[in-house]
Amino acid sequence: MKRVAILGSTGSIGQQTLDVAARHPDRFEVVALSAGSRVAGLAEQARRFGVRTVSCAAERDVPQLRAGVASGVRVESGAAGLLAVAAESGAEIVVAATDGMVSFEAVAAALERGIDVALANKELLVAAGELLLAAAASGRARLLPIDSEHSALFQCLVGEPRERVASLVLTASGGPFWRTDAAVMRGASVADALAHPTWRMGTKNTVDSATMMNKGLEVIEAARLFGLPAERIDVLVHPTSIVHGFAVFTDGSVKAQLASPDMRVPIGYALAYPDRLPGEPPADPLAAIGAQAGAQALTLAFERPDFERFVCLRLAYDALRTGGTATAVLSAANEVAVTAFVEERLRFGEIAEVVEAALDGIPAEPLSWESLAEADARARTLARDRVAAKA
Ligand code: MG
Repeated sequence: MKRVAILGSTGSIGQQTLDVAARHPDRFEVVALSAGSRVAGLAEQARRFGVRTVSCAAERDVPQLRAGVASGVRVESGAAGLLAVAAESGAEIVVAATDGMVSFEAVAAALERGIDVALANKELLVAAGELLLAAAASGRARLLPIDSEHSALFQCLVGEPRERVASLVLTASGGPFWRTDAAVMRGASVADALAHPTWRMGTKNTVDSATMMNKGLEVIEAARLFGLPAERIDVLVHPTSIVHGFAVFTDGSVKAQLASPDMRVPIGYALAYPDRLPGEPPADPLAAIGAQAGAQALTLAFERPDFERFVCLRLAYDALRTGGTATAVLSAANEVAVTAFVEERLRFGEIAEVVEAALDGIPAEPLSWESLAEADARARTLARDRVAAKA
């Protein structure tokens, strides 16, 4: 039995992680859960899985949460609550599925204490990758990717000498605007941006897919996780999202990982690693690699991304090349801009403008806990000012 804690249990990845745990009750025991403001949902999950530690975002919600769970369950809130769930609950693996930077300290603490972390959150690795890798090294803990593309690359690299990896390729669905003309895209509505063609995800990730910032953040994540520079990480648009990533080796061989676009596959891989979960994939080989049941053929199409139309993708590569706190600035400014877009205070096309202004206005510093906090705060302030100026 592996003891599992989830940060962000009521979100899309959190719920799908519980799905995987429920299908394999002989392998996983869910011991701790945290969520933001969906307290009733969190309490229901806690009862269903018999967890011993729960935490919500706000202290004022603690009485409601306590009333909803069994007596004897440890109930916490805020930063201390995230820490209790991640590092004090007896978990052997923590699934980090919160948005933004809220879980940074809890995740770092878990890694330092030797607790493995399965990371679904992109921002943590983008903003603070080197700090998390150092925490993992000091605690001898594993940092396992849940993002489907990084899980694919991780699987392609199992048993391979790192110095023989020539390049890594992340695939992108292209999002809802892959074929949309630039002028129309600029004024796209929130509903248009949230209509993702293949993946079931949270709001932030879905908007990031529409701008392709999602893929930009993933390029940075891959650079951190696999230790490669920007010029050796490529992106190809692959609208059906069946091939999730591939590794090109120095001998000319290319290894790809294929699966249906279902996040429970990479979640299960991270939870079970280095094993794989038992189960019964489709006997039909075309269905097993993601074709509709009964299909006669499966065609895989790949295209180069358009860096002119998807400015956010270019900005992410720029920030990765700059290094230091630049990727934290990119991520923080993007969070502010995406929130403003979802609240209809910013046009779709202005998201990239806000991010670019932050990258131009805040000089990059070498990364440390202090410089990270400062760069994050400055980026948010600058981005909020830009949003206000555009409204
Ligand atoms: Mg992804």
